[in-house]
Amino acid sequence: MLSTVMKRLEEIYPELVEFRRDLHMYPELSFHEVNTPLKIAQFLTNLGLEVRTQVGGRGVVATLKGGKPGKTVALRADFDALPIQDEKDVPYKSKVPGVMHACGHDIHTAGLLGVAKVLSEVREEWPGNVVFIHQFAEELAPGGAMPMIEDGCLEGVDVIYGVHVWSTMPYGTISVKDGYTMAAADEFEVEIQGKGGHGATPHLTVDSLVVGSQLVLNLQQIVSRKVDPLKPAVVTVGSFHSGEAFNVIPNTASLKGTVRTFDEDVRELIEKEIEALTKATCEGAGAGYSYRYSRGYPALWNHPEETDRVERLAKDLLGAAQVNRMAPIMGGEDFAYYLQKVPGTFFFVGGGNPEIGASYPHHHPKFNVDERSMLITGKLFLAAILDYQENSK
Ligand code: MN
Repeated sequence: MLSTVMKRLEEIYPELVEFRRDLHMYPELSFHEVNTPLKIAQFLTNLGLEVRTQVGGRGVVATLKGGKPGKTVALRADFDALPIQDEKDVPYKSKVPGVMHACGHDIHTAGLLGVAKVLSEVREEWPGNVVFIHQFAEELAPGGAMPMIEDGCLEGVDVIYGVHVWSTMPYGTISVKDGYTMAAADEFEVEIQGKGGHGATPHLTVDSLVVGSQLVLNLQQIVSRKVDPLKPAVVTVGSFHSGEAFNVIPNTASLKGTVRTFDEDVRELIEKEIEALTKATCEGAGAGYSYRYSRGYPALWNHPEETDRVERLAKDLLGAAQVNRMAPIMGGEDFAYYLQKVPGTFFFVGGGNPEIGASYPHHHPKFNVDERSMLITGKLFLAAILDYQENSK
């Protein structure tokens, strides 16, 4: 059964390439996806699946009911693009100025449609149900995952698998990790209100620039002095603006930064510490302030049992030498929300191939990946679904 559907996936590969390249030429930004979900829904409807559109806003969810009893496995692919100008020299280069599939979500989408197609052809003999979750807006918080979950996309689902193609991993490799794998990504902003004046009379002012500078340095102590050294954390101030002229003490200073963590207790600690340091630094200098902390996606936690399953199946598919346990990534991913509701794992499929120019990092204007990564993804999804039906407790 498994070898039949895998072989069939290889046969329809040209169709997946065509679909992927069409998405690549007509990318759509997060929360502005209109034609992409229409194309996906059309493809799935043609397969004779039950299709729900506008799930949680712009999502598409299709359900395949197998002819034999079994559990319900969900697979997720995201489909949004990025505000980047495509600078590749390929026939399927983006035709939309300033918008590009620079993270490979087109690959995820076409790869998942391939799985849907081959399974729809054998549905009478297939055990259990498969839910295909095509998600909008992964790139931009608050993201599409949460509204799709609230709209019921995980109802009845026993397990979920998700994938990211990765351009800096060679084609033909797979990386997995259990536990915390991608970081919680939060943002903060501070606006300091001082009292401006002449550069020659600092004693008559409250210098917002000096207060802001002090705050930037004080914030460095959170990770080094407050967080358990065995727990990863980042506090980065990425923007600091104050003053215009060489002889004027500025009235205000504003700074913005990002916080990356894995453990929820570290996340809470840092949020509190930033506020406490802002208050202490500003009040100590007689300055006023406003402060805003906004939480982004939570940390992504992969379930060990499902990670072991995917690792074992990946080794069967590609050979043990091609599969490795990776270090965590400090980037964020809203697949984390699904994993808070049901067990599952999010894994990485290599797409790098310098021979075809696929050697640039994600979000780069020349980003590309080896399209055959769709086949590896699809095969591993198929293997995981069947293995879960046969071997889960
Ligand atoms: Mn991505």
